[in-house]
Amino acid sequence: MNILERYAAMDYGPAPESRSEADAWLKAHDFSKALFIGGKWQAAASGKTFSVFEPASGKPLAEVSEAGSEDVDAAVKAAQKALPAWKKTSGYERARILYAIGRAMQRHARLFAVLESIDNGKPIRESRDIDVPLAVRHFIHHAGWAQTLEKAYPGYEAAGVAGQIIPWNFPLLMLAWKIAPALAAGCTVVLKPAEFTPLTSLLFAEICARAGVPKGVVNIVQGGGETGAAIVEHPGIDKIAFTGSSEVGKIIRRATAGSGKKLSLELGGKSAFMVFEDADLDSAVEGLVDGIWFNQGQVCCAGSRLLVQESVAETLIAKVKARMGHLRLGDPLDKNTDIGPLIAPVQLERVKGMVAEGARQGAECWQPASDLPHTGYFHLPTLATSVAPANVLAQEEVFGPVLAAMTFRTQEEGVALANNTRYGLAASIWTENVNRALHVAPQLKAGVVWINGTNMFDASSGFGGYRESGFGREGGHEGLYEYLKKPSGKTAYKPIPMPEPDKEVGSASFIDRTPKLFIGGKQVRPDGNYAIPVTDQKGRIHGEVGAGNRKDIRDAVSAARASKWGQATAYNRAQVLYFLAENLSVRAGEFAARLESLTGTRAKAAQAEVDLSIERIFAAASLADKFEGRVHQPPARVVTLALNEPVGVLGIVAPDEAPLLALVTLIAPALAMGNAVVAVPSQRYPLIATDLYQVIETSDLPAGGVNIVTGASAELTDVLAKHDDVDGLWCVGDSDLCALAERESAGNLKRVWTNSGLALDWSGDGELLEDFLRRAIEIKNVWVPYGD
Ligand code: ADP
Repeated sequence: MNILERYAAMDYGPAPESRSEADAWLKAHDFSKALFIGGKWQAAASGKTFSVFEPASGKPLAEVSEAGSEDVDAAVKAAQKALPAWKKTSGYERARILYAIGRAMQRHARLFAVLESIDNGKPIRESRDIDVPLAVRHFIHHAGWAQTLEKAYPGYEAAGVAGQIIPWNFPLLMLAWKIAPALAAGCTVVLKPAEFTPLTSLLFAEICARAGVPKGVVNIVQGGGETGAAIVEHPGIDKIAFTGSSEVGKIIRRATAGSGKKLSLELGGKSAFMVFEDADLDSAVEGLVDGIWFNQGQVCCAGSRLLVQESVAETLIAKVKARMGHLRLGDPLDKNTDIGPLIAPVQLERVKGMVAEGARQGAECWQPASDLPHTGYFHLPTLATSVAPANVLAQEEVFGPVLAAMTFRTQEEGVALANNTRYGLAASIWTENVNRALHVAPQLKAGVVWINGTNMFDASSGFGGYRESGFGREGGHEGLYEYLKKPSGKTAYKPIPMPEPDKEVGSASFIDRTPKLFIGGKQVRPDGNYAIPVTDQKGRIHGEVGAGNRKDIRDAVSAARASKWGQATAYNRAQVLYFLAENLSVRAGEFAARLESLTGTRAKAAQAEVDLSIERIFAAASLADKFEGRVHQPPARVVTLALNEPVGVLGIVAPDEAPLLALVTLIAPALAMGNAVVAVPSQRYPLIATDLYQVIETSDLPAGGVNIVTGASAELTDVLAKHDDVDGLWCVGDSDLCALAERESAGNLKRVWTNSGLALDWSGDGELLEDFLRRAIEIKNVWVPYGD
């Protein structure tokens, strides 16, 4: 071909990246000793190994030692042994080590990138320009957090030994997202890479040893699901951080219930890519290439649902098809390759199966007439149109290069369609109208929203999901909390038993009142029409309360969902809370008398509890418009708005101890942040809560903002935990109740906070309130690029 002919063809010649260094590295290693435990390379105690294949060729790459529970135990013990000294290491010293890791990774950047592309099949352009630089940035950014930790997070300490389990789609980047914040916080780690992609973690372990990471601070074990499960179940682990499928995330939620282990889950997604009619369509098409064909679509936040406004749908789809025809499939080590192979035959079969099923359910699946390479697990980029909202391709995560397109007419319809998913990881909005973009972003139930962009990441900005995409954030200021804890007491929480009503003593003065439940702003009879007597410490009956049941909780959740409270401005929320405090103070004497007569506490203590309750509502009011988000400036022409959004419908199960103070300490911050609450008050002293209705009723809180269902805590907690329309649950009780709340919440992966069965000091200072404010929000990171 002469120059003229080549010019006319405008085709790309091969531009392969050399693999000789990576091959030499592979050759020099004995992968049968691939467990990095206590600073030493070890074989599995069982001697077992597993095979790793190259996705582009199908050829074997390595036989890697597979850690069993004995090896996991050794790794956890090594991490436990290293913990005290690492925790005590100064922030400055930890910063130097994190920085040294980042710099060493930079020096080996090309080897990391080539190994990653060989092991995972991702195009070298991606591993070289995205995975590796972002991983380096994570370590260098977190070096800074290590040094400023004490000032930035006063009162916190390292969570302990972190068990970290990561997937195969971004092996090095996910490792960095896990290890950098853990080390910055003073945790030691046991990390398990995915069984398909162990290689870069081995190179990383070598770097740790050279960068001065003390022995046992970073331990890396290899293996599959069983190895992961051994980490999850190990009693020596204090915190689990998992990235992977929602299915395994739910297993882990159940397995850790009641264990006291901290948990963060970054799971699947079905992210919306919304294109409005006023978008720059050519930019949107390029965005889409990054959104769904990046890493072959094997990305948890892939923009796999294209939602396009009807008026531009035809034009956009034509442009997308034309662009798809130019995507180059081939050798991942070729710098011109856009799409590499999928990770493994099992994934290829899965993607093919889902495309076939989508077509069977009515979608039209289109693929460009490109050739597939002769070897490797390649799948053509695929566009599905005429996709019904219930189609498997619209609902289920494919984790492959498959885009499902749907149309919408109005903005409202677009938002509804975007939110029509059980996931909530990310979303992209394409429009040239900044007002529209910033109006739509808060309405999307997703942890990350990119405006006129997609798949932007940075260590400064948190990443993580809403709904079944998991909970907790990685990166950013908020990500550090996942590896920190406040020192807690050891005293177990004990519910206060209700004495049998004493027939001889009879009733006290309040017997004539039988309060109802408080649902949707009204006092309503319990569905079952049963009442429970409430006695004082001597067994005298002070009144009866309704025995709420499943149906009552369901009604309360519906009322909370319909409430207008979430739309109130922060200033408005503050005023309502101030008014609530004011109204409580008018009746302070009455509440104190009730506390005194019911709980048997002294008059002074009862008065103090009421006073502190009023003060706490005041404090929550004062912070309603001040506990705000942040703005980040990642190293690109973009700002990230980290917005504090309410969790949504929050279930609150209050304890018997400090029955008024605990209840308001839980409810007030939840309301301050805009959540609608379904509260189950103290089982022992519910009359305190029923007295509160009248205060709430006179405080301008919209109907459904707070709903109160009295009854048996365990029964009602179970219903709240299982309810799919409850977004979060705070449960204070004994260890059985806490375990129940955590275990039963796995269905929709609601955010659960419990006291882990430990007694709490409700009279604590303002910090307690801030902790609850933080639990009352989800942080949404909205990326706003600027410039031409
Ligand atoms: P993916 O679909 O991305 O492969 P998985 O959830 O299957 O997601 O895998 C993510 C990570 O979780 C991998 O490291 C895998 O070995 C590990 N894993 C799989 N099953 C379990 C389990 N039951 N417990 C803990 N880890 C597991």
